[in-house]
Amino acid sequence: MVNTLGRENVPKRLVIIGGGFGGVNLALRLKNDPRFQITLVDKNNYNFFPPLIYQVATGFLENSNISYPFRKLFRNYSNIHFRLGELLRVNPDAHTIQLNNGELPYDYLVFATGAESNYFGMENIRRHCIPMKNVNDALEMRNTLLQRLELATITDDPAERKKLLTIVVAGGGPTGVEVSGMLADLRVHSFPKDYPELAGTRGGIILVDGGEHLLAPMSAASQKDTYDALHKMGVVIKLKTQVKDYQGEKVILSTGEEIETRNLIWTAGVTAMVFEGMPPASYGKGNRLLSDAFNKVSGLQDIYAIGDTCLQMHENAYPNGHPQLAQVSIQQGKLLGSNLRSLIEGKNQKPFTYKDKGTMAIIGRNKAVCDLPNHIHFKGFIAWFLWLFVHLISLINYRNRLKTLYNWTVAYLNKDQSLRFIVRPGNPDEKP
Ligand SMILES: Cc1cc2nc3c(=O)[nH]c(=O)nc-3n(C[C@H](O)[C@H](O)[C@H](O)COP(=O)(O)OP(=O)(O)OC[C@H]3O[C@@H](n4cnc5c(N)ncnc54)[C@H](O)[C@@H]3O)c2cc1C
Repeated sequence: MVNTLGRENVPKRLVIIGGGFGGVNLALRLKNDPRFQITLVDKNNYNFFPPLIYQVATGFLENSNISYPFRKLFRNYSNIHFRLGELLRVNPDAHTIQLNNGELPYDYLVFATGAESNYFGMENIRRHCIPMKNVNDALEMRNTLLQRLELATITDDPAERKKLLTIVVAGGGPTGVEVSGMLADLRVHSFPKDYPELAGTRGGIILVDGGEHLLAPMSAASQKDTYDALHKMGVVIKLKTQVKDYQGEKVILSTGEEIETRNLIWTAGVTAMVFEGMPPASYGKGNRLLSDAFNKVSGLQDIYAIGDTCLQMHENAYPNGHPQLAQVSIQQGKLLGSNLRSLIEGKNQKPFTYKDKGTMAIIGRNKAVCDLPNHIHFKGFIAWFLWLFVHLISLINYRNRLKTLYNWTVAYLNKDQSLRFIVRPGNPDEKP
């Protein structure tokens, strides 16, 4: 059994699984603290910024604008090490974890593994849709949509052309709204110039959501403004409707309606991941790890969870857990860092309290909605500008901020961007 016995005067081995908002903020909170030897494990060798992946998917930003390699991020901190690997199994009794490429011992283990797309058991949809969860998905979506546009220019069959040009977006949360708005803008400003041969052809963007409103967690005013703006931009919105099946040619809706399309973009839900070795009783709704106010996973020693994968229900304002948002992960990561320090110093730890800084969604050029605490709501250019500013300063470093600012400025001035490349390394002929 590997544990902390006899290790009082050596650095604590802190293993963090996942280098998203939560994991990186936790590691950086403890940077250069010689009492911790930190290993951050991630299945990718880079951190990325999920709120902007749809802009990579639609060719507005480059992948490198929103991603940064872990080894470069941590190179100046002697107590933080990066390990490329995927967590497979946890052995809580032995204080070890099993990765796809080896084993690691820990004194403290932190799950910061985020969430993945939830298909609610619908295997056909999982196999045929275009997911929107990570950088790979974004590049795949960019390639697929561009290849389908090219196919639309060469087919002689009007029905097939319409199918290639129709895009169904499932999920009316911020991602679904933002990707629909961006595609609607592209249809007006960019596609007519790039694809003149498609002028006058049919197709469209259809946004489907099971709820009564778009942007469910936002204010009624934001919901209405978003609906009106997207409607005006030509997006067909179907509320109280769910996608039930899709085998690559036809989306079947819960209303019985069928939409012929080759493109279903899936943003309809997320679920956290279950790992072997963790007791089933530690998991709550959405497969999130039930944790106390100090992020310690219930029923386990020395194991913590932060961010999307953590379910804390101690705050009266969030009886069903915190929203799965970047700010929650960032604040939990920072607090857990401070609490781990307090723990080894024998001091009291602080319970987590979420500070809501507001929510925003961008709908299109000069159009966004913003809800701030105390029921403050605004929309239009100011909300759009604030959205750009907040997302820009939230990027991981100056290099990415400058590159993104440059790409946004080019896109704004030209009402267009020139990043619409089909790049499939190793698979140039892959069937779209
Ligand atoms: C498309 C999209 C748009 C979004 N827009 C917004 C927004 O506008 N505002 C907002 O506040 N939130 C937004 N979110 C939600 C926000 O991104 C998440 O709440 C946040 O990223 C959660 O942070 P995290 O640290 O918990 O996990 P993540 O940031 O998801 O990081 C998890 C990390 O764990 C790694 N990982 C997962 N499993 C394993 C494994 N088995 N082994 C090793 N590594 C693993 C992953 O590679 C990843 O790096 C958006 C999410 C998506 C997908």
